[in-house]
Amino acid sequence: MRNIIGKSVEGRDLVLHANFPLRGKTDPGAARKSTLLIGGTHGDERATVSILDNFVASHIDSGRIAEPVAVVSLHNPDGHAADTRYNGRGVDLNRNFAHNWSPDSDEPPGHVPLSEPETLAVHAFILAHRPAKIVSLHWALSEIDADGPQSTALALRMWEALREEERKPYRLRVHRPEVPVAAHCPGSLGQWCGHGLVYPDGSRPAMVTLELPYHANVFSRPETLPANHLEGVRDLWRTRPEAYLAGVQDAVHRMLEAACRLDHVWPRAADAAG
Ligand SMILES: [Zn+2]
Repeated sequence: MRNIIGKSVEGRDLVLHANFPLRGKTDPGAARKSTLLIGGTHGDERATVSILDNFVASHIDSGRIAEPVAVVSLHNPDGHAADTRYNGRGVDLNRNFAHNWSPDSDEPPGHVPLSEPETLAVHAFILAHRPAKIVSLHWALSEIDADGPQSTALALRMWEALREEERKPYRLRVHRPEVPVAAHCPGSLGQWCGHGLVYPDGSRPAMVTLELPYHANVFSRPETLPANHLEGVRDLWRTRPEAYLAGVQDAVHRMLEAACRLDHVWPRAADAAG
């Protein structure tokens, strides 16, 4: 089902596909299993949008996935139309969420947290529907990045959905207590959902940022990415998008399917009892 959850700065629809009704009472059992997938937060990260649109067709509209899932494949339609990272007001939506928001961010964060309609629409959807798992797609740091201890199981499930060969382009980053949470990406969706957000029932969503590979071939990710990694993959996308999708999409779809099927419960009963 296609839903409009808001409008962009320039008046474009913010579209959300869901395989469950958004109105009416949410079944608590279903809510605990639901997954939100987001792409195109940075408008020039075009592969994230195509891969999610294709996932809607192949895995959701087809009925292949029965677990409740919602997809915003294009969070920043104005940026996508202009082929820029930012929204119609030049704000980086992934610095505009409210948790650990900083006016001195490395990217333009907006004049206050949640100043942008695109940020607000996703924020409101998450508070209203309380997805248990959130996976946000970006391009192209080649990593699976879990925010918060409650997100480790989700990241591992996605990692395990890959064949050994397919893991090579990715770096897996899970929660480590010695790494301060505010050190990177203040005001990002990952900061809020992974570290700030607690639902009224005391549960917390699992939050993974999936940074797609910067090339279509399977070889190991270097510790330091090449300086031109984003330009290289953009050139490939401009000239031969099918080659990038052929190398990347199946593995990503398997990770997303695994995420949708995971039964995430946090805090775990054992932790809550302790
Ligand atoms: Zn991005």
